[in-house]
Order: sequence, then C-alpha cells, then structure tokens
Amino acid sequence: MSTPCPTCAKSELLPIDLQDQLPALQCTDCRGTLLSLIAYRDWRATREAPSQSRIDVGEASSVADSTRLLRCPHCKGFMAKFRFSADARNQIDLCDECDVVWLDSGEWSLVEHLARRGQLAKVFDDGWQKRLREEQARRRAEERWSSVLGEDYERARELRTWLALHPKGKELVAYLYLSQTEGI
Ligand SMILES: [Zn+2]
Ligand SMILES: [Zn+2]
Repeated sequence: MSTPCPTCAKSELLPIDLQDQLPALQCTDCRGTLLSLIAYRDWRATREAPSQSRIDVGEASSVADSTRLLRCPHCKGFMAKFRFSADARNQIDLCDECDVVWLDSGEWSLVEHLARRGQLAKVFDDGWQKRLREEQARRRAEERWSSVLGEDYERARELRTWLALHPKGKELVAYLYLSQTEGI
C-alpha cells in the first residue's frame, strides 16, 4: 500500500529511520517526513537526558516552510497547522485523527532542537493529545444533542449554563426532574 506525499503531486513516501530506532515515512523528492506522534513519544521517552544542542536557533528557524493547507496522506482530511514553539516561525501540519505530523525538509532538526530545550510545542506531548480528544468528544456529544433537540437546543444550552452557575443548581435540577417523572 503506497502513501502519497502531501506536498508533491506524484511522489510516494518511503519508510526510513528518521533517527536510530525512530521509523517514519519520507518523500524522496521534497524530503518531507510523515511522523507518527505515538512512535515519536515512545522514542523520546527512551532517549537519555537532553544534551546541549549543536543547532543554532537562527539557522533552524529559517528552514523553508510550506504555508498551504495539506491533506493527511492516510485519511485525506485537512491537516491543522501548529507552531513548533512560542518563538519558532515554522509550523507543523498535524492530523489529529491519525496522530501524525508532517515535517518539511529540515524541520526534524528543529523538533529535536526544541525538544532538548524543553520548548517544543504542546502538540507533541501526550497531555495535549488527551485534552484534544476530550474536546472533540465533547463537541461530538454537543452535535448529537443539537440534532436531537433541534431548535430547542440553544434554549436548553442556556438553561444548562444557568443551572450550572446557580447556587441551587442541583435542587433546581431535582425539582425539574421530579416535575417530569411525577407529572406535577
Ligand atoms: Zn514530497
Ligand atoms: Zn489523517
């Protein structure tokens, strides 16, 4: 099964070792790399304590970056752009469905440089992914309620917020529930 390069029209991604024991897929034309964040986190966890980096920040952050929206080579959905860190100009493309990032040529050294300095964007860590998943699950649940409740959804939401903030919210919910079940 072949994986197309998200930036080149015809090229395919081939398996490589991005670093010792860190597998990834790379385009032979543009040298862009598709990296699984699960693989990356596992790999990072087994590395020794960060050593002083030899890459100069100025050099690393001047790496050419793709600015157009890319489609994930796996699921074909649009990838979201995220900055590497607070001060790096470069952005990575992330598919949160597949948990993969697309790194333009040269950006891998930037990732490792920032990781060693503890300045890597939160997209790379587990907690961030977990929060993102929770947020997505919450949004999907809201969408379901919206289709079930139809035009009353907005009112129900307002009522829910009002109850959540109300000092006697629990009592009010109990009262409403009882009114329903006991037909008061
Ligand atoms: Zn390519
Ligand atoms: Zn995807």
